Amino acid sequence: MRIAIVGAGIGGMAAAWDFVRAGHTVTIYEAADAVGGLAAGFKEPNWQWSVEKFYHHWFGSDADMLGLIDELGWRSEVIFPRPKTVVYYQDRFYPLDSPLAALTFPGFGLLDMARFGFVTIYLRYLASWKPLERVTADEWLRKAYGERVYGMMFEPMLQGKFGPHYQDVNMAWFWARIKARTTRLGTFVGGFQAFSDRFAQELQRRGVTIRLATAVQGIRKGAQAGLDVTLPDGEVEHFDRCLVTVSPAALAKMAPELPEAYLSGLLRLKSMGAVVMVLALRHQLSTQGYYWFNLPKRAGYPFLALVEHTNFLSPEYFGGDRIVYCGDYLDTSHENFRLTQEELLERILPALARINPDFRPDWVRKSWLFRTTYAQPVPLVGHSANIPETKTPLDGLYFASMSQVYPWDRGTNFAVQIARRVARQMLSD
Ligand SMILES: Cc1cc2nc3c(=O)[nH]c(=O)nc-3n(C[C@H](O)[C@H](O)[C@H](O)COP(=O)(O)OP(=O)(O)OC[C@H]3O[C@@H](n4cnc5c(N)ncnc54)[C@H](O)[C@@H]3O)c2cc1C
Repeated sequence: MRIAIVGAGIGGMAAAWDFVRAGHTVTIYEAADAVGGLAAGFKEPNWQWSVEKFYHHWFGSDADMLGLIDELGWRSEVIFPRPKTVVYYQDRFYPLDSPLAALTFPGFGLLDMARFGFVTIYLRYLASWKPLERVTADEWLRKAYGERVYGMMFEPMLQGKFGPHYQDVNMAWFWARIKARTTRLGTFVGGFQAFSDRFAQELQRRGVTIRLATAVQGIRKGAQAGLDVTLPDGEVEHFDRCLVTVSPAALAKMAPELPEAYLSGLLRLKSMGAVVMVLALRHQLSTQGYYWFNLPKRAGYPFLALVEHTNFLSPEYFGGDRIVYCGDYLDTSHENFRLTQEELLERILPALARINPDFRPDWVRKSWLFRTTYAQPVPLVGHSANIPETKTPLDGLYFASMSQVYPWDRGTNFAVQIARRVARQMLSD
């Protein structure tokens, strides 16, 4: 078969890996000028490693991602340093990523601690998520953990991730996070971009064509069987099957021949965008060596997550720069999608002095701003009924996106999982 894949993110490339090994002719179209999608990175001339535009790591439990890396024979290049994650309490930060840390966390009384441990273990061992999607995470967590633990730990996280939708997100989403995540965090030697570039090279070596800077404009039924894919210059290429890995809204635009019911289902799905500022600092920000700070907005922080990448990986890989991410999930109507980089920087910098009082704006050697309108699907109550079928009603057209990995939270592991599942479906149909 001649197969087209729209998007050279981790998902699109994982599907190509299966198609080409099954003997099919594969072309991947990618709008950007590099592969990697949301997990792509960038590099300064004096850096040995790339830095992800949006902070990324793998969890020890990412079996599909790590399984793919095993197939490629690159497992020895996956490393799992043990960074420290901290939470905010009364203007200070405390690790809360191990049972011992929970025991010494001053924000919890004895009863809170017991409740925190018991409910977390219950969720981790709970096998069935289906009943949980009928209630909101806000309601369930408030009751199970109690107001104090919920208000301190989970409410700020939900507010930060889902903004105005935070009280509407269902509890199965939260269950999936507890179930699928580990405190072990991993990356690829050289950064995620090194992995993606090497994966793309391996695919090309096996015969996959990757056309960068080629945004697919439209997908329509062919004159006979198959699908016609329209490219930016108006050129049309014909394929037997097509797998699309972009956002639901982008698919709706690309394939207007999809039946009305499927199209409106795509357009009804909600998601949050992300705005991430990456800073190269001259000095270490968190001298305690903390990697991930969860910041509550109600304590006046202008963003959700502060991630000091070089407290996870050595600054040596980045020419001595200390790499800090300031990241936030926002509705795309939020002003941070319109402000200039300088304006945003001005709002962000005062928060860094709250992490380290010695911080001065002249510590910032360089900054980069990355924004995406599609970063985090929002799963509402009863969400499983809203997931678009991976086999669309348009013959030969398939869809595998972040919005369909539910109840799992989006992540490269689940991009690999869904893309390979849909690849199997496409080959067996
Ligand atoms: C802020 C943030 C933090 C994250 N942190 C983590 C993390 O720590 N760990 C983790 O595993 N995952 C993380 N993720 C999620 C992870 O990045 C995604 O789940 C994964 O990369 C999705 O892969 P994908 O291939 O499905 O889609 P994408 O990566 O979105 O790939 C789709 C591709 O399609 C291309 N495209 C779009 N339109 C067109 C068109 N018209 N024609 C051709 N190409 C097109 C895009 O340019 C893109 O390259 C994070 C995401 C964000 C936003």
